[in-house]
Amino acid sequence: MPSPLTEKEVNRLFQLLDDNQLIFLQSYLKQSKKSKWLEKLAHKKGIVLHSNVSIDEVWEKLNDWELKEILDGGYGNRPYKCECGITLRYCYIVHHRKENKTYQLGETCLGNYTMMSAELIKDITNGFHNIDLERDEILIRHEQCWDLPTDYNELNLTENLRTQIDIGLPLSSIQVNRIEKMFQHELFQVRRQRERDRIAQLRTRQSTFVNSSNVSSYSHSRTETITYEEVIARHLTNLKQIREYEHRITYPVMLDKWDSVQDMIMDLKRGEDINYSKFLSQMFELLYYLDLY
Ligand SMILES: [Zn+2]
Repeated sequence: MPSPLTEKEVNRLFQLLDDNQLIFLQSYLKQSKKSKWLEKLAHKKGIVLHSNVSIDEVWEKLNDWELKEILDGGYGNRPYKCECGITLRYCYIVHHRKENKTYQLGETCLGNYTMMSAELIKDITNGFHNIDLERDEILIRHEQCWDLPTDYNELNLTENLRTQIDIGLPLSSIQVNRIEKMFQHELFQVRRQRERDRIAQLRTRQSTFVNSSNVSSYSHSRTETITYEEVIARHLTNLKQIREYEHRITYPVMLDKWDSVQDMIMDLKRGEDINYSKFLSQMFELLYYLDLY
C-alpha cells in the first residue's frame, strides 16, 4: 500500500471524482469504519459475528458504545467540537444504548469519554488508519486510470462491488485480493480458457503464415520485436514453473523445445531478435506437456 497522503493531496484527488464516485467512496469509507468499530468491539468481547445475525441484534448483545456517525467538516474546516472543547474536522458520534448517552468526539478523545480500553481504542484507530490507506490507494488508482482486470466482468460480484465498477471507481488491492480469493476457481477456469483461445489463435495465425505466399505479411511478422525485459515481465512465472519440473521432461521432442525456449531467452539477453510466436507456442506446449496448465 502507498504511504498515507497528506490531507491536501487527498483533497486534490477527491476533486477529480465525479458526484457519483464521491458519494459512493465516502459512504464506503464510512461503512468500513463502522464495521471496523463493530468488529473490534465484538472481538474484544469474544462475540463471533455471523452473517445471519443482523447488526442491530449484535449491538443489542454487545450493549456497548456504538459508532453512530462520522462527520467530516471538509478540507480546511473545523466546524465540530469535541466534548473537551477542541474544534474538529472529523467528529465521531458515539452512543451507548443502555446508558442512553451520546458523545461527539475527536479521535484522540474517544478513549477518555467512553472508558473503552486503550488497547481497544488503538485497535480501532489502527483499523481506521488502514481504511484511510485503502481510500488513498483508490484515489491514486483513479488518477492513474487503473484498469479493471477484464476477467472480472464474468464474475457474480456483490451489488456494491458491481456499482463501484460501473461508476468507474477503481478497486483497492484489498478488494481485489478478496475477489481473487472468493472467485479463485472461476477465475482459474476463465483465465485458462483465455490462454487456450490465445494459443489456438496463435496456431491459426502461424499456419496462415506458413501457407501464405504474401511477402509483406511475412516481413511484417518477422519484424515484430520483443525485448528480454518484456518476455521476462510476461512469462517469468511460466518459465520458472517449467524450470521447476524440467526433470519430468522425457520426450526428446519436448527436451528440444525446452532447449529452444532457453536459447531464445539467451538470444534476447544478448539483444538479438527472436520469433516470439514460436517462443510462445513452444513454451505453452511445454506447460501443457507438464500438466502445468
Ligand atoms: Zn476532545
